[in-house]
Amino acid sequence: MAVWSLKYPRADSCAVAFVTVPVAMINPLDSTQLTTLQVCPRRLIIESQRASEKLWRPKELYEHCIRQALLNVSAGMSIADATLEAVTVFVERATRPGLLTAHKPYCIAQDWIAILKVSITALATVAGGFTEVPLVSRPSWKCLSLMGNDGRLHRWTTVAKFSRDLAAADLQSWAVVGDICATGLEMTVHFIETGVGRGGHQHTPWCRIFAHPAIPGRFAFQQKDGSPLEGNWKPVWFQNSPNNDIAHWLAMMERDQVKLIHDVRVKSPDASQRARFERDLAIERARIASLPKLEELPIFRPACNFPQVCQWQWICYAE
Ligand code: SF4
Repeated sequence: MAVWSLKYPRADSCAVAFVTVPVAMINPLDSTQLTTLQVCPRRLIIESQRASEKLWRPKELYEHCIRQALLNVSAGMSIADATLEAVTVFVERATRPGLLTAHKPYCIAQDWIAILKVSITALATVAGGFTEVPLVSRPSWKCLSLMGNDGRLHRWTTVAKFSRDLAAADLQSWAVVGDICATGLEMTVHFIETGVGRGGHQHTPWCRIFAHPAIPGRFAFQQKDGSPLEGNWKPVWFQNSPNNDIAHWLAMMERDQVKLIHDVRVKSPDASQRARFERDLAIERARIASLPKLEELPIFRPACNFPQVCQWQWICYAE
């Protein structure tokens, strides 16, 4: 019989002594911080102090890069330059501090870089202009969505496969509720299907096509009706040939009627919804301001392994 011993954090388990949470983190607050607080206040404190050590999930890093690339294109940068900058940022952060992934980081990073290259062109060629939303002084909220030329907020998020249930869950997030309530604006959420990670690769038409088993040079993503290809088609990856061209890849996606971007419009909130948000925010801001030192906070065990293993267990569970 295996015998395990419990691990409790030492009082000095964290190398940094926290007396108070930095004021800069409290004001303004954004949806990422508020979500983290409600999942685990310890995580909020740790990440406020160790931001440079935080490992990125590929999806998070991709969303960060897409947002910045669309801002850059809106500011007049060419799509090619915005793509190059986005890829550079992705590679730098994937290298140090690194990616949080169950797959081989190099392989999965190559897939996500290909997804980034192809999807930036796809999004930038159809999107309007965007700017950052000025800080909303009341209730001191930093809006992470971008303001479109159409007067609406825009947010890009990834899903393995789009569904109404996933969309409904996202529309309840602080990223949506917080931003529309703080600004009073409508929002368009752009869901980008990025497939699943399996066998060391990200399986999505953004970076994977199939080669015909018998006809050289014949490639396809799917059948015209959207059903999978039949026969022994072999997967081929965008990044595996320098001859793969973004425009040609996108044209093949269009030919095969691959649709990976789904837009959902969210109505602007009414006065009572905005008041409710301000009340909730005030309560949570007060909670942040009164957080004790890290070593005095209990471990939020339900959050340590669900929905994913928390990357800070090496601090909280240190012997
Ligand atoms: S390991 Fe658990 S307690 Fe520690 S920061 Fe992560 S979720 Fe919170």
